[in-house]
Amino acid sequence: VIEITNLHKSYGELEVLKGVDITAQRGSVVSLIGSSGSGKSTLLRCANLLENSEQGEIRFKGEPVHWKGSGLHRRPADAKQVLRIRTNLSMVFQQFNLWSHMTILQNVVEAPVTVLGRPKAEVEEAARAYLDKVGIGDKCDVWPAQLSGGQQQRAAIARALAMEPEALLFDEPTSALDPELEQEVIRVIKDLASEGRTMMIVTHDMKMALDVSDHVVFLHQGLIEEQGPPDMVFGAPRSERLRGFLSATH
Ligand code: ATP
Ligand code: MG
Repeated sequence: VIEITNLHKSYGELEVLKGVDITAQRGSVVSLIGSSGSGKSTLLRCANLLENSEQGEIRFKGEPVHWKGSGLHRRPADAKQVLRIRTNLSMVFQQFNLWSHMTILQNVVEAPVTVLGRPKAEVEEAARAYLDKVGIGDKCDVWPAQLSGGQQQRAAIARALAMEPEALLFDEPTSALDPELEQEVIRVIKDLASEGRTMMIVTHDMKMALDVSDHVVFLHQGLIEEQGPPDMVFGAPRSERLRGFLSATH
């Protein structure tokens, strides 16, 4: 579904991504791990075109992103393509980002209605089903502030699902949560993985990465240092840096 080759991204002088190749095949779960500042969030944000990149190819379902300009001036050329890709790669953030002035149901209904122009009644019915699916079907009419962190994050996942995207991108979905609340969210992510959803997950939770991923990518200073199936990456890491990283995280 998403195919990235030789991606380069800088912020001014700082080169954050130095030529990264990463692919998420349909139905697969790719986890991104690595130290703080290694470029994980930047990579996700470049993948759904929230962030520009100077060099490299991004393909969505085989279709290459069209660019205009070059280097630091490179921008996507086709606004419709950007919208299509962005709505098809729904992002879930660490800080949930629910709209505080809307009820949980309204939060889930908003984008499919306003961005995709889908009929409100139909979207509402689907939204209730997604909220049920993540285990908070009884919270439709409350405000985000009335939910626990784990419930808010599950609402954010329901909101992402309501766009009926081709893939979900998660940026540290559990790291703002207490351990017990983290488990609720991990359970939802596991369910989604077992349904064959395509997902790219940035996580600091090595146990979740081991449990849910088909492929794990270890980023180090803007380059892929090691990657492979989770049992290899966690069970038999080859790179010294990856071994160091894993022993530091546990
Ligand atoms: P963490 O685990 O802490 O979330 P990360 O791997 O997600 O780290 P990124 O957020 O991708 O790292 O950041 C990579 C580098 O880019 C860091 O050095 C960061 O300071 C820098 N950076 C990120 N966003 C910006 C920005 N908008 N402007 C300037 N520099 C940025
Ligand atoms: Mg990050």
